[in-house]
Amino acid sequence: MDAFNPLPPAWVEHAIHSLSFHCPHCGAAVTQAQKVWLNRRAPVLGTNHRRKFQEFYECECGGAWWAWSSDRPPSELAEQYFSDPPEADSELD
Ligand SMILES: [Zn+2]
Repeated sequence: MDAFNPLPPAWVEHAIHSLSFHCPHCGAAVTQAQKVWLNRRAPVLGTNHRRKFQEFYECECGGAWWAWSSDRPPSELAEQYFSDPPEADSELD
């Protein structure tokens, strides 16, 4: 998975915002996602001045959705991919 590829994959274009960190299309958990992409180009300052990012997921049902990284519940999948998110690259600015 190219979670940290700076270029957004095509499937993120039809992603819808999920407030529950579940697929809004079928209700599957984030752990059922087949693909993930992290929008590192547009960090937003959240609470405690910690940056949060849009995390895009493509579900096994074919639906795409996104949620803020700050809203992500602890999960093994997230730990695997995002346990050490790199700082935003200065060359992207
Ligand atoms: Zn789904």
